[in-house]
Amino acid sequence: MRRTLVRVGTEYPMVGTLAFGVVDRGTNVVEVRPTSICALSCIFCSVNAGPKSRARAAEYIVDPDALVNAVEEVASYKGTRVEAHIDGMGDPGNYPYLVDLVQEIREVVDVISMQTRLYMLSESKIKELEEAGLTRINLSMDALLPPLAQAVWNQLLRRELSAQEAGFHTQQHEASSHNLPRASARLE
Ligand code: SF4
Repeated sequence: MRRTLVRVGTEYPMVGTLAFGVVDRGTNVVEVRPTSICALSCIFCSVNAGPKSRARAAEYIVDPDALVNAVEEVASYKGTRVEAHIDGMGDPGNYPYLVDLVQEIREVVDVISMQTRLYMLSESKIKELEEAGLTRINLSMDALLPPLAQAVWNQLLRRELSAQEAGFHTQQHEASSHNLPRASARLE
């Protein structure tokens, strides 16, 4: 299904939709949604993202300045330690201005994290994100069959060892309710 790509600039409000912009759910975590684009079409996707989506008429990509201004405004209104969490109704790893966005948001919040499946980011791009100020990557892995989940997990462990050798501090978290592992990498 062909879709329109909408470029969202500073003329649009950044708060008020879940599709893009800034989402404040009343905690110290402010969600930052730079794009709805995703190259995958996971069968369980709760937001029907990806090329096989049958429900989407448009995708969004947001001007980084508009996001930075909105995060600054929301963070200063909250007046507390704020974590900016880059996520969205797609995978923010596809956002072309990600490094710039991280660098500029880092100036106005205490912690900046990101949700991604990571496949689109090279090691050098991850290093750039770390240097820009990214504090943490939340990485989800999914598989229907336990042997496949184990194989993916083993692959992650190999990557984790490489990351540690490159100087990253990594952390693993508990298995999910489907016995699938989850991990996050703290970039320090
Ligand atoms: S990677 Fe995330 S956003 Fe993309 S299709 Fe899968 S669940 Fe949906």
